[in-house]
Amino acid sequence: MNDINNINRRKFLEYFGCCACGLIIPSCTTAPITERKQLRLLPESTINRQAAQLYENVKRKTKLSNDKKQLDEIKKIGLKIENSVSAYFDSVNKIDPTQNFHWEYILIDNDKIKNAWCMPGGKIAVYSGILKITKNKHGLANVMGHEIAHAVAKHSIERASRALILNVGTTAIDIFSGGIISNASRTTGVDVAGMLRTFGIDNPFGRKQEIEADYLGLIFTSLSGYDIRESIKIWERMKEAYKGQEPPEWMSTHPSSEKRILNLKNWIPEIILKYPPIEKSQ
Ligand SMILES: [Zn+2]
Repeated sequence: MNDINNINRRKFLEYFGCCACGLIIPSCTTAPITERKQLRLLPESTINRQAAQLYENVKRKTKLSNDKKQLDEIKKIGLKIENSVSAYFDSVNKIDPTQNFHWEYILIDNDKIKNAWCMPGGKIAVYSGILKITKNKHGLANVMGHEIAHAVAKHSIERASRALILNVGTTAIDIFSGGIISNASRTTGVDVAGMLRTFGIDNPFGRKQEIEADYLGLIFTSLSGYDIRESIKIWERMKEAYKGQEPPEWMSTHPSSEKRILNLKNWIPEIILKYPPIEKSQ
């Protein structure tokens, strides 16, 4: 039975995988800049709408920080990245992948979590715990650049589309078809952390997507005028912070920090030259 399922699944993938672009054109796109082929079966508007609802839940259910100065810095960096991404795609006559984004930023008061994320549509959260790793505006800009790159490259749409095809993402399908989050928003005591994981936000993306987010993140951070060499220091500090302990789940499935640092070192000199700070013309 399993074998038959596997064969059918493989056949199905042959028909609907990304190679079948002639059959279903709208579902086959490429990631910006890297031109990596992507499968997108779900409309961006649906995913952005669901993400915005989940973001509202996060804002209600988690403890937000009162540190206005820090939040202002996050917003300032974010705005620079927003403008630079749009200005870059304008400058190369490409459609701005963030044209339907409604950017928003929150700082979550949780010193234990060394993480940040950006939901589809530009809904960003930074946990206070990662600020000890980022240390300065350049560090923070590099982390935000990476997270924003996941959203710009529409990694969540790709991931949900894959889940649909592989038939393993029942919850993901429920979420993207609208059920779970609207129900959850009516109930009290919602497990926001669980929903974030299911939604694929507070959860590692695939290896290819992580590498792509590292690469695009450097580009967006450099276009925004921040020092991308700081990205290497972040990964060194991250390694140090988890010395002798089990790394958090998202780190262990990410590319290893050594491999990551090596990639960054290879890309940085070229990216600094090719993607200098860009000013958005008003
Ligand atoms: Zn990532």
